[in-house]
Amino acid sequence: IDPIHVIGGGLAGSEAAWQIAQAGVPVILHEMRPVRGTDAHKTEGLAELVCSNSFRSDDAGANAVGLLHQEMRSLGSLIMAKGDAHQVPAGGALAVDRDGFSSAVTAALEADPLVTVERGEVAGLPPEDWTSVIVATGPLTSPALAEAILSLTGEKELAFFDAIAPIVYRESIDMDVAWFQSRYDKIGPGGNGKDYINCPMNKEQYEAFIDALIAGDKTDFKEWEANTPYFDGCLPIEVMAERGRETLRHGPMKPVGLTDPNNPLVKPHAIVQLRQDNALGTLFNMVGFQTKLKYGDQAKVLRMIPGLENAEFARLGGLHRNTYLNSPKLLDPTLRLKAMPRLRFAGQITGCEGYVESAAIGLMTGRMAAAERLGHPVEPLPGTTALGALINHITGGHIETIDEGPRSFQPMNVNFGLFPPLEIAPKSEDGKRLRGPAKTLAKKNALTDRARADLAIWLANA
Ligand code: FAD
Repeated sequence: IDPIHVIGGGLAGSEAAWQIAQAGVPVILHEMRPVRGTDAHKTEGLAELVCSNSFRSDDAGANAVGLLHQEMRSLGSLIMAKGDAHQVPAGGALAVDRDGFSSAVTAALEADPLVTVERGEVAGLPPEDWTSVIVATGPLTSPALAEAILSLTGEKELAFFDAIAPIVYRESIDMDVAWFQSRYDKIGPGGNGKDYINCPMNKEQYEAFIDALIAGDKTDFKEWEANTPYFDGCLPIEVMAERGRETLRHGPMKPVGLTDPNNPLVKPHAIVQLRQDNALGTLFNMVGFQTKLKYGDQAKVLRMIPGLENAEFARLGGLHRNTYLNSPKLLDPTLRLKAMPRLRFAGQITGCEGYVESAAIGLMTGRMAAAERLGHPVEPLPGTTALGALINHITGGHIETIDEGPRSFQPMNVNFGLFPPLEIAPKSEDGKRLRGPAKTLAKKNALTDRARADLAIWLANA
């Protein structure tokens, strides 16, 4: 059998190579380290963790990433097996000894007779006789390869700062305070003039908010991030606030074209808008609210916004350099580049975020590439599973909105907002409607039960 080539021996590429070999297909894994380094990696080990050593929550009953762990284990994940074997104490989280973990992944791949590890940069489009390739080169893809990929996509940028605005669970927004309305009731394609959630602020609330933004604890840029431009000129909200106390009121918080139904005669001093972020309508992003505030301070400051006092965040905002494709537009459902289907993509470069998510996409991409090589059908995963929900987010579950500019797709961790809602709301044992935290937990449990049942059916047919 002709080998499959995997470029990048990080979290995604290592897992993809492993899955391909387990399917009985030879694989060549190309890793440029130590021949050429990146700005964040420090070793030559495969699957190096560049920052924290945490795979986050391991709770498969009430946490989406915990569920993803469990699904990956049931599909024979190398990353999870070695993560489990090199676990260090971290409460309910799965944290690992980073060196032990990386060495074990490297050793397993090097020992597999179907895997060849080649050290060296793939510095442009792969040769034409590589008929099946997985590109898993991550957020720090080498510039030569990034440029070659960019030339295939028709896009303007591939590497830039993620202008990450926080994303809020719709059900945690207080709709007694906030209301649905588009600015000037404008009706766009697929809209009804009520596309945004609006949170009003009076003068005192605005001034207190600006003070908190300016005082908040901020993340510093790493040295190597300093030369990358802000994507589309997006500035963090705290930088705007520092430039002038009124800047935000004339920018993302401008109070025009909107009427507060609770107070129709008084014009709000400022308004925060949230826009639907996924097709399911379970997640809303805070428009223009990209921020470098540290997570603890960020949640505290954002909960000062009327209507968001109890907001739960599917992801907090941030800015860091990243390389990722506009995947919903450029990739097909099996993660092949539409413009050159011999190239598949995996890992952070597809627009997922995080070690576990990157490995998860590597896992599925490896299985897909191997199945294709063997002439087997590729059964899509149910969108109710964590793996399926993540793939749907990457390949098209996300809605594109025109007024956000050409590229609204943003990297995302796995979270319950990506799952289709439950058809029947869970009830307590005595049949009563649940409320508050009990309701939230019951919903999460029901979502994970559904995921497990659907994955079992899929696995039985795989
Ligand atoms: P990587 O793990 O980066 O693997 C890509 C591999 O490809 C690298 O080994 C690289 O050397 C190689 N490569 C690149 N170009 C070429 C080429 N042309 N030819 C051959 N090889 C090539 N996620 C978390 O969950 N927790 C964190 O704490 C965290 N911190 C991060 C900190 C930074 C600075 C960055 C940039 C990202 C961070 N992430 C974090 C996000 C992300 O989950 C990780 O970057 C993750 O490692 C991505 O997995 P990957 O396999 O897609 O890429």
